[in-house]
Amino acid sequence: MATDTICPTCGTKFEARRHRIFANVLSEAMLTPPRISLKAQLDDSARVRCPNCSAEFVSDGIRYFGFLSPGAMYKLVAGFILAFVIVFVYIELVG
Ligand SMILES: [Zn+2]
Repeated sequence: MATDTICPTCGTKFEARRHRIFANVLSEAMLTPPRISLKAQLDDSARVRCPNCSAEFVSDGIRYFGFLSPGAMYKLVAGFILAFVIVFVYIELVG
């Protein structure tokens, strides 16, 4: 399955989304002010814990909305913020 991830420590293969460290990470990432950066926050939200050796790492097997990889999610959110800023500046200048 596409969401499978492999532990870099022990090589165990498991389903990333079932072993996420933070349960409601997406809403947390959206609603709380960025702690370090948006990228760091998304990385945080993609952290998983290996069910075999308990190693924690950022998985690229996490999918937001079922299909967006952390990298794609970052671009989407960054693009959304950029578009918001552009619209805001436009309204300020024109309106
Ligand atoms: Zn492991």
